[in-house]
Amino acid sequence: MAKVAFLGLGVMGYPMARHLKAKGHEVTVYNRTTAKAEQWVSENGGRAAKTPREAAEGQEIVFACVGNDDDLRQVTLGPDGAFHGMGKGTIFVDHTTASAEVARELYAAAKDKGFSFIDAPVSGGQAGAENGVLTVMCGGDAEVYAKAEPAIMSFARASRLLGPAGSGQLTKMINQICIAGLVQGLAEGIHFGKKAGLDIEAVLEVISKGAAGSWQMENRGKTMNQGKFDFGFAVDWMRKDLSIVLGEARKNGASLPVTALVDQFYADVQKMGGNRWDTSSLIARLDK
Ligand code: NAP
Repeated sequence: MAKVAFLGLGVMGYPMARHLKAKGHEVTVYNRTTAKAEQWVSENGGRAAKTPREAAEGQEIVFACVGNDDDLRQVTLGPDGAFHGMGKGTIFVDHTTASAEVARELYAAAKDKGFSFIDAPVSGGQAGAENGVLTVMCGGDAEVYAKAEPAIMSFARASRLLGPAGSGQLTKMINQICIAGLVQGLAEGIHFGKKAGLDIEAVLEVISKGAAGSWQMENRGKTMNQGKFDFGFAVDWMRKDLSIVLGEARKNGASLPVTALVDQFYADVQKMGGNRWDTSSLIARLDK
């Protein structure tokens, strides 16, 4: 069992840190809004630190799950950032969905200071975090990853090293590219079925057993049909992720016409007031 810290007790971080504690790790937490850290300690035990730096001091592994590149830079390199408190030979594991560029930058900064950095974005959403069954996509050095993997598996069903620094973030980008086009296709299918006057639930039940079946169809088809979006992975987060994806594609020359179009469809959903709606809300702009 390891001495660990977790920075960022949001929708994802709060339950991820809880799983680390439940598996027997000694956990220190930090959250910008301190009330959340205090609540976490009152529910789970452990200790709350006042700054990321204080949280990182004396730990073997420090985990983070914050919003975007800038937030990540703030909790690592900022004046009271965790990188000022990390000991030699320790490991920083970042679960934020961020750019490959910031992952490489932080990997290099960590190396300079004598510790290691793994970029480790996750997939599986709030339910995956609550149930400890996330998928974790990692980038970094193999021997460092091997040391961190047992602790990562406290809240994951699958975790894998995909290559050098940034590879975890690049893999998460592929995950989001695959989701974007698929959700639009599912939205169009359900929209079409409604116009055709079919029983959508019966349609989804039968076609989900065939070649059109998907996680999105199984888990989101019914609620899309009902127009329920008040849960899940927010459109604002998806637009942040797609902007990272499209930025990377401009650099590596990949052609992503459908992803770019779906990003604009999500902008339409935002204009409809759907910033916090689940990503399955793409159907709302067709049905309106
Ligand atoms: P969230 O509920 O909004 O939580 C964000 C956390 O980061 C909060 O603890 C927040 O602190 C902290 N934070 C943000 N900016 C900060 C800053 N500048 N300095 C210090 N702390 C800061 O977000 P989430 O849903 O947990 O998502 C976190 C990350 O996981 C994002 O990168 C997201 O894209 C990714 N992700 C989310 C899901 C999902 O379904 N939610 C799925 C996969 C991946 P405060 O409490 O003080 O605001």
